[in-house]
Amino acid sequence: MMVKQKGLLIVLSGPSGVGKGTVCSYLREKQDDIIYSVSATTRNPRSGETDAENYFFKTRQEFEQMIKEDQLLEWAEYVGNYYGTPRAFVEETLQQGKDVILEIEINGALQVKEKYGEGIFIFLMPPTLAELKNRIINRGTETAESILKRMNVAKNELQMMKHYDYLVMNDEVSKAVERIQSIIEAERLRKERILPYYEQWLKEEL
Ligand code: 5GP
Repeated sequence: MMVKQKGLLIVLSGPSGVGKGTVCSYLREKQDDIIYSVSATTRNPRSGETDAENYFFKTRQEFEQMIKEDQLLEWAEYVGNYYGTPRAFVEETLQQGKDVILEIEINGALQVKEKYGEGIFIFLMPPTLAELKNRIINRGTETAESILKRMNVAKNELQMMKHYDYLVMNDEVSKAVERIQSIIEAERLRKERILPYYEQWLKEEL
């Protein structure tokens, strides 16, 4: 009999503009055995974004209803909009033994840490502060006011790196992704996770 192991919950976070989204999509391309959790948000879709694929786009009222009904594993208000992780999908997928990745901002990540300490908390670091500002500006989808807001948020957020398990520098997307893949590979081999499986295996072999 196989001992069914719960999946890993991987939380990829970091300051605004550090490139979480890019790193996460590249990681998903390279590693199709990790299931991406689609978030709910009240912000408007950007061009090219599809409902249920990039986000579940909600009205504020709908989102507040989800909060009330405890449907969210975590949620945060970020630059004037709500963002949150639907709880049921994450719990069911982990229960099936599949690994799940959340790409979320820091307040939300810290809430997940409170509720689910066995998660793997990865903080993406910009190589320098100047580089971080460039990235926020060059993204091009933000207004001047929004750039300033996001930069202030990002500086406060950097202080929170100490609460994470891993600090991964995003100097180059492919390198950052390789670092994250090594973390995941090692975490999958932790004794705490696989000992029950091998104990069972040992009984069968003898
Ligand atoms: P954007 O509007 O650029 O798509 O996302 C803004 C920020 O919200 C990013 O830092 C992104 O990681 C974060 N975010 C996306 N989904 C969630 C979520 O479900 N919960 C939280 N707390 N943050 C999220």
